[in-house]
Amino acid sequence: MIPSVLPTYNRAPLSFVKGEGSWLTEADGRRFLDMGAGIAVNALGHANPDLVAALTEQAGKLWHTSNLYRIPQQEALADRLVAATFADTVFFTNSGTESCELAVKMARKHFFEAGQPERVNIVAFHGAFHGRSHAAIAAAGSQKMIEGFGPVLPGFTQVGWGDHDGLHAAIDETTAAILIEPVQGEGGIRPLPDQCLKGLRDLCDEKGILLILDEVQCGMGRTGKLFAHEWAGVDPDIMMVAKGIGGGFPLGAVLATEAAGAAMTAGTHGSTYGGNPLACAVGAKVMDIVADADFLAEVRRKGGRLRQGLEGLVAAHPEVFEEVRGSGLMLGLTCRAANAEVVQAAYDQQLITVPAADNVVRLLPPLTISEEEIAAALSRLDLAATQVKIKTTA
Ligand SMILES: *Cc1c(COP(=O)(O)O)cnc(C)c1O
Repeated sequence: MIPSVLPTYNRAPLSFVKGEGSWLTEADGRRFLDMGAGIAVNALGHANPDLVAALTEQAGKLWHTSNLYRIPQQEALADRLVAATFADTVFFTNSGTESCELAVKMARKHFFEAGQPERVNIVAFHGAFHGRSHAAIAAAGSQKMIEGFGPVLPGFTQVGWGDHDGLHAAIDETTAAILIEPVQGEGGIRPLPDQCLKGLRDLCDEKGILLILDEVQCGMGRTGKLFAHEWAGVDPDIMMVAKGIGGGFPLGAVLATEAAGAAMTAGTHGSTYGGNPLACAVGAKVMDIVADADFLAEVRRKGGRLRQGLEGLVAAHPEVFEEVRGSGLMLGLTCRAANAEVVQAAYDQQLITVPAADNVVRLLPPLTISEEEIAAALSRLDLAATQVKIKTTA
């Protein structure tokens, strides 16, 4: 009999009932150290007092009105995002997938209004993940995600990660934009070298097309800059954000330059919940904390610490781990053992990690994680690796 919850997820047999900072309490009372943060969502940890206060204060005043009216919390958060980034304008969504939908629509509408309606195609990359809508699965193009769901939405092509010639060949007079994650998340923590992002920017300028960055996972301080593209010193035209921006409250956004966003006039797009008062009250508090030079410097410092410890684990367990990759507190361990075994062994040590493609184990802790918690995570992962080694050689 089908479960009452549609069984589309492969869930671990864990159910958490309480969270505090970097820790989650399981229904049986065990405390887990959370190096997954709900897949980079709980950027400021669980039950962060500042976020709880922002949410409850707003909850006592007004939950929802609709985008038929002005929403002051939305305007305030948009102002903050515009002030802190390349963007001139922001649209609020509820998820990364919805941000992908709008990014694609915006790019196409831009060229339609510019008298180049033939420019509809989006060039994306193998191993990408942009969400689960028809546009998002067509963009990523993986067989696993599109098979069985009818005609794949046209207008998307994929090129290999790092395939220069393939990329140049994929761009023609029908191309509207290049869509890429500065650090692939689900694809296995694959960072795009700064030089390549610069090269993509130049290529887009040369061809007169738009650069869309998907910073749903790598944005909001995750890599130690507010947004990952800042490392390369180049700006996109359109950027997708979600996950960390709400700290656990469903919130997403599309940021755009005036030139890229201007075609999205009244009536061209909308969302019932997008940017509602509750979400934006929390989002504004997240921005207050994350878009701070000292906070981001701490993320870089702690990321360096974690990375150093992980390098040590690779050296100590060469039969389990292969290498460390990523940036800031978005790190991945490529494994020689099966990544699922490592994640399971980590659960046994009451440590939460997240698997990714390319046989990677992801470490995406709350950005507020402490030095002691990083040390504890490393020693638990060390024990987990020993357990995997014993199991695989038994
Ligand atoms: C999670 C993710 C998405 C999709 O976000 P949802 O909120 O699950 O719709 C899109 N892009 C990237 C890079 C992601 O990591």
